[in-house]
Amino acid sequence: MWELQCLQIEKDSMIDITKIRNDFPILSREVYGKPLVYLDNAATTQKPKCVVDKIEQMYYTLNANIHRGVHFLSQQATDEHEAARVTIQKFIGAKSSDEIVFTRGATESINLIASTYCRAFCQPGDEIIVSAMEHHSNIVPWQLQEEISGVKLRVIPINDAGELLIEEFKKLINPRTKLVSVTHISNALGTVNDIEEIIRIAHENNVPVLIDAAQSVQHVALDVQKLDCDFLVFSAHKAYGPTGIGILYGKEEWLNKLPPYHGGGEMIASVSFEKTTFNVLPFKFEAGTPDFVGSTSMAAALDYISDIGLDNIAAYEDELLAYATEQLLTIDGLKIYGTAANKCSVVSFLVKDIHHYDMGMLLDKMGIAVRTGHHCTQPLMDRLKVDGTVRASFSFYNTKEEIDQLVAGIERVASMF
Ligand code: PLP
Repeated sequence: MWELQCLQIEKDSMIDITKIRNDFPILSREVYGKPLVYLDNAATTQKPKCVVDKIEQMYYTLNANIHRGVHFLSQQATDEHEAARVTIQKFIGAKSSDEIVFTRGATESINLIASTYCRAFCQPGDEIIVSAMEHHSNIVPWQLQEEISGVKLRVIPINDAGELLIEEFKKLINPRTKLVSVTHISNALGTVNDIEEIIRIAHENNVPVLIDAAQSVQHVALDVQKLDCDFLVFSAHKAYGPTGIGILYGKEEWLNKLPPYHGGGEMIASVSFEKTTFNVLPFKFEAGTPDFVGSTSMAAALDYISDIGLDNIAAYEDELLAYATEQLLTIDGLKIYGTAANKCSVVSFLVKDIHHYDMGMLLDKMGIAVRTGHHCTQPLMDRLKVDGTVRASFSFYNTKEEIDQLVAGIERVASMF
């Protein structure tokens, strides 16, 4: 029965699940003697062979420091690194590859904007708007700026389903609002925010918008020009790429207006003890030896998901989410946190008064990897009046059979309490 359903999904959404799972060697390993069921994709995704092959190829055949070398290897590695930038530009629909800045990840990208934007454009008492469902990485950098620049954080509230209250957002905007920084998809609830509407409202008030796409770039096709966001950030490791690298997209006119973030090699035009001048975009923001192994293997990951097709991925993952939601709700005493009308790939839940940590530990012994705790969203957990949840998050390499195993695992744990 399950096989039939899976084939049906495969047929409808063009996902070749057998081939895809073969691309991810880790998915066929066992933990505690049980087949791994990996449902912690919102924390990090597994890597297809082509990404690891690219890392190996770069180190074995193309390892040389880039941009400054005149020798063959350095130039070839530079070409690959800059070609990766163009791949990323096209992947998110940016106008120019100069608008693609390599960082260490979504967190560093937000810190970069918080620091440089507040330094350049904010006065004490100016306001930055975030939402109640932000990851700590879109809260704490702004709180640091509260101390440094004197800005104040304002928070868009949510309803009990975990949806942003757009009317309340409108009321928060005032002449002191300097930036809106919101997540596209909530890592803890799976809510898909209406970022088109948020951007439209902010721009009507001449306020720029930063979109945290850490949980969306791997699930839905994005086009930054159509969205018209001013900044957008994401991490490679959540999109099937390597750890330690990510992207800051910024409109060229904004990036040109911002001061540098880190100082060092690469980001300068000339240095003297009297005066230092800075490099052009995007290098102005890329101090130090660039991560050319990270950039090129990240591009391999984005090419991989582009080949499958983001529309196919979205359709298949929506099916998985609908199936998981339906099956989980059959469990006695299970409550889902995050019931927004528009959701993506994440189910957060608790079962009766079983602690999320106990549930996670016992599922782990059955080979099922889920996340437990506050998911780096403590203010959201406070709003929901829980100290944490169990979170299952899905990728296009997961199957309905794995969801059945999750449901059976939860039932087994529940029967122990
Ligand atoms: N934003 C969201 C919505 C996230 O889910 C995460 C990570 O979980 C981040 C930002 C931070 O990503 P990273 O730790 O890769 O910088």
